[in-house]
Amino acid sequence: MFMARLPFFHATIWTALAVLISVSFFPTTTLAAPPTVVASIKPIQALVKMVMGPIGTPDLIVPATASPHVFSLKPSQAKKLEQADVVFWIGPTLETTLEGPLDKLAKNARVISLLNIPELSLINRTDTDGHEHTDDKAHNEAIDPHIWLSPTNAKVMLAHIEQTLIAVDPPNAPEYAANAKKAKRRISILINKTNKFTEHMHDKPYLVQHDGFGYLAQAFGFQEAGFIQTHPGREPGAKHISQLIETIKARNVKCLFHEPQFTPKLAKRLGQEHGLSLREIDPMGTDLSLSDTTYVRIIQGIVLTMQSCLDPHLPGDGKEAHEQDPK
Ligand SMILES: [Zn+2]
Repeated sequence: MFMARLPFFHATIWTALAVLISVSFFPTTTLAAPPTVVASIKPIQALVKMVMGPIGTPDLIVPATASPHVFSLKPSQAKKLEQADVVFWIGPTLETTLEGPLDKLAKNARVISLLNIPELSLINRTDTDGHEHTDDKAHNEAIDPHIWLSPTNAKVMLAHIEQTLIAVDPPNAPEYAANAKKAKRRISILINKTNKFTEHMHDKPYLVQHDGFGYLAQAFGFQEAGFIQTHPGREPGAKHISQLIETIKARNVKCLFHEPQFTPKLAKRLGQEHGLSLREIDPMGTDLSLSDTTYVRIIQGIVLTMQSCLDPHLPGDGKEAHEQDPK
């Protein structure tokens, strides 16, 4: 009887101790103040959040509704840069208009350009599409900067974010390490599941609105046949449009994916005139709340929408299949 009461006694002591610690010591002595962390775009904010976990929440500069290619900084966003200890961004070929403000405002911050991580697997556009993007401010370099759409690159970025946060905030190192490990495992599961889910989508060509989805196509073996905008945020010239129409006919393209960050006017016209099904895919996760699952939900959201057009009979989320199967 005495033995049986011991665990309860222990539990009571530990509860009392925990309350005592959390009330009187936790805020001042045990927990180090987390660094002020800022991310340029929402997918990067989502990756940083995975590593920070309950320690803190990174601030966002470019709202997810805007395209990072054609973004202008407001005073409130400038203030976030001034107050930051760490800033994570992709680099000047993506968030072009952030380069100047980062130089001027983020003087006290450790500014990390994720595109410079040597371990990343990068797409050189001169190799993949046969022509160079030399005449455009946003895409004036051959390296495709939309690196977060490769989940394998996302894992590389997680490791770099983890190392950076540990260097800035050593007392929380064990937390950052544990969170990053969990995050990488989560993304490995995402990769495996998506590979299985997309098996029947490999031979179905499609168009996208701007040249931002090359990493996704490469990661899962999709057939991206082309893109509408040669310059992000601007409608293309007549020559490019006629080339697209050729591609639609020659490759029997049935699906066109546009993005909430750009107007779908031309996409809709092409869709109507050439019998394409239109779907909206969002590389920024505009409608998603910020948590440690946001990144995974961004990729899942894109792939599920693509599947609903490219392979609607695949029992996946099943919506389209259910609509058509009852007869
Ligand atoms: Zn882009």
